[in-house]
Amino acid sequence: MDAPPLLTVQDLRIQIDGRLLLTVPSLTILRGEVLAVLGPNGAGKSTLLQALACLRESTTGTLTFEEQRVDLRAPTLEFRRRLAVVFQEPLLFDTTVAENIASGLQLRGLAKALITEKVALWLDQLGINHLAHRQARTLSGGEAQRTSLARAFVLSPDLLLLDEPFSALDTPTREALLEIVHRVQQHTRVTTLFVTHDRLEALRLGNRVAVMDKGEIVQIGTAEEIFSQPVSETVANFVGIETILRGTVACQSDGFAEIGVAPEKRIAAASPLPLGTEVTLCLRPEEVTLLAPPAEGVLEQPSSARNQFLAGVTRIIPWGLAYKIHLDCGFPLVAFVTRPSLEVLNLRAGGTVLATFKATAVHVLPR
Ligand code: ADP
Ligand code: MG
Repeated sequence: MDAPPLLTVQDLRIQIDGRLLLTVPSLTILRGEVLAVLGPNGAGKSTLLQALACLRESTTGTLTFEEQRVDLRAPTLEFRRRLAVVFQEPLLFDTTVAENIASGLQLRGLAKALITEKVALWLDQLGINHLAHRQARTLSGGEAQRTSLARAFVLSPDLLLLDEPFSALDTPTREALLEIVHRVQQHTRVTTLFVTHDRLEALRLGNRVAVMDKGEIVQIGTAEEIFSQPVSETVANFVGIETILRGTVACQSDGFAEIGVAPEKRIAAASPLPLGTEVTLCLRPEEVTLLAPPAEGVLEQPSSARNQFLAGVTRIIPWGLAYKIHLDCGFPLVAFVTRPSLEVLNLRAGGTVLATFKATAVHVLPR
């Protein structure tokens, strides 16, 4: 994305009682993008969001918003009014839904008719027209979060900060709200920082993804980069790469390496790393195709993939709408299959299958 930066921070740090909670040497949020911040609990995601919103007193560093410096500890009211924040637990005023949504506009002194018009629009967008006159304290979690989102969107913020807004909701409600937020963002192009620990949510909403661990941003890039080319085993684990193997480059020609991962077992990978390099291999479970093992005496190749291993099925785990298959190829390998594939291949623990994957699907990290 070539959009100009909306916000840039440099040397952002938060230290409390000698403990460094956050260190971000530099970070830019581009105008119109959704930057998803992904990481496990305690990674520092909320701390980062609060620092960017100037809600943490102990923050040091520099913040530039639309080319203007903002004092991180004493931001102007003008700056604050360009942001809207939605938290995991909706913090609603003890009044009606409509009054909650109107509150920010009232503070800004908008004309009454305009407020009514805007509130009606966002009640509609969030699907809560019928709740307009309900008391906020009587709302379900999902309804309260719709109200919080409407209250944020109605302000037409320049930067929307969302801190795990769907985490406390049941799955259908979460999916409905994800779709609404996605649609509204596509429509308004509001620049969004979206904090989540859920990689599917990050993938659904994020144009870029920043992965956090221990108070640092350990990788930032497009969702595609983060999910298929993690920079470390920690990121690989967190983005759902099921097969992570250690090995050594045993052969190198024309940018294709053969990597020894077990005695007599080599994996072909698109990598220019030289002979002898110690590496970590990452392979997503979606990249592995399972086929029926070739019948005795059949020489024809069942697949054009460079990697083909006869594998024992060690475990089959129902995984959402699919199945996660643990395999033993002389090294461990994990694949996903659908129910029809499970049946066609007659997969069962103790059975045998042919596991195949392309050399280009293997991501190689030097160690
Ligand atoms: P996340 O949102 O990724 O789950 P947080 O940003 O809430 O993580 O917290 C990151 C770390 O900082 C945690 O270890 C948390 O205990 C610690 N932390 C957050 N706020 C404070 C504070 N005010 N004082 C001390 N430690 C804090
Ligand atoms: Mg948090």
